[in-house]
Amino acid sequence: MHVAPPHAGHSLPALGWLAGSGFPAGGVSLVGAGPGDPELLTLKALHRLQAAEVILHDRLVSEEILCLAASQASRFYVGKERSRHSVPQDGINQALVEWARAGYRVVRLKGGDPFIFGRGGEELETLVAAGLDVEVIPGITAASGCAAYAGIPLTHRDHAQSVRLVTGHLRNGSSDLDWSTLAAPGQTLVFYMGQNGLAVIADALCRHGMPPETPVALIEQGTTACQRVHTGSLQQLPPTGEVVTIRPPTLIVVGSVVTLHDRLAWFDTERAASSGWPRGNDPVPSAFDHGA
Ligand code: SAH
Repeated sequence: MHVAPPHAGHSLPALGWLAGSGFPAGGVSLVGAGPGDPELLTLKALHRLQAAEVILHDRLVSEEILCLAASQASRFYVGKERSRHSVPQDGINQALVEWARAGYRVVRLKGGDPFIFGRGGEELETLVAAGLDVEVIPGITAASGCAAYAGIPLTHRDHAQSVRLVTGHLRNGSSDLDWSTLAAPGQTLVFYMGQNGLAVIADALCRHGMPPETPVALIEQGTTACQRVHTGSLQQLPPTGEVVTIRPPTLIVVGSVVTLHDRLAWFDTERAASSGWPRGNDPVPSAFDHGA
């Protein structure tokens, strides 16, 4: 896919509608789009979307959020899926620099928060090195958005004194992470990108001393009308006999705070504003088979 700007000589679109946006021509805004529900966008994110001339976005940005952008903006999907990299990271970095140097107001729109498992740091490094006018607008990360909508407080005086956000994308089996500190009591663990590694994660935590009955929640398509919360334990998720089909994105929460979900779940998917991500963009849903 070609995401570079047109060559010099093409004229920029009329810029009058940008007046007062606080977004300089040739600037790049790294914007967090939040976890799904469009109403969880920050006001600043909304302002930048409305002032953007070029938007490069990921898979985890719903159509409902993209619809809030100025209709004149050129939109490019540069998401990465497990096996198909539509645009490699270098290509994204390069495109951001080229569009900005061509004088456009560029929004790099990412799911959740750009600095949490979003490679926003790498993109910012490139943009700063190129001497561009940049800013970062934080978004609600999946951990806080999904936990809030699932009625699972990430910290709680009776349960967890700290919370850890962990990648579940394990490149070298289970050897990537410091499992003995992860298995320590009194904390909540939130695994991003962990759906395929769930059995490995559960096994490694148990081997490092976490009780097998420790509660676990899998939050599917959190904060959208498609949200589903599956609960169980490290040794038994889902409960015996159940076969569950999981649609990404999913977040895994481990710790005794999960027990609060039964009492505190408040989110009514029937009344939810966001219908989630178009099915076609998602990887094939996987049948969840704990211990497989
Ligand atoms: N920058 C993003 C995370 C990108 S990594 C953020 O701050 O949220 C992508 C992972 O985030 C997914 O594999 C999944 O684990 C998690 N995720 C993002 N949105 C989610 C959602 N609405 N529901 C469940 N998990 C989500």
